[in-house]
Amino acid sequence: MSNCIFCKIVNGEIPAAKVFENEHVLAFLDISQVTKGHTLVIPKVHKENLYELTPEIARNLYEVVPSIANAIKQEFNPIGLNSINNNGEHAGQSVFHFHLHLIPRYGKGDGFG
Ligand code: 5GP
Ligand code: ZN
Repeated sequence: MSNCIFCKIVNGEIPAAKVFENEHVLAFLDISQVTKGHTLVIPKVHKENLYELTPEIARNLYEVVPSIANAIKQEFNPIGLNSINNNGEHAGQSVFHFHLHLIPRYGKGDGFG
């Protein structure tokens, strides 16, 4: 989608700090990380939200989530991690290209929750 910021990241039109990439999936650091290592995982194809994902897109995406989470664990050494997906404005979605937040947790006062 031409005016979607995450499609622009997929297409290389705007930069992002990439954490993982394969044919179907891209993971990159959130531009305003709520905790150190806050990462977004997206399908390369434009789908607005969870409701729009096909089983194949969901499979391709979630297949790589554990290894991305493990890479984050390795790199940042958090004591916990939240995986969160917001769907719809009222649920806190602000970018309308499906994304899964991986938010490393460091304990009380880490800035999230
Ligand atoms: P949502 O509120 O839709 O669940 O999450 C959208 C996330 O995208 C926010 O955490 C926001 O900081 C992040 N974000 C918005 N624009 C950009 C951008 O241009 N680059 C990156 N890396 N993250 C972005
Ligand atoms: Zn998009």
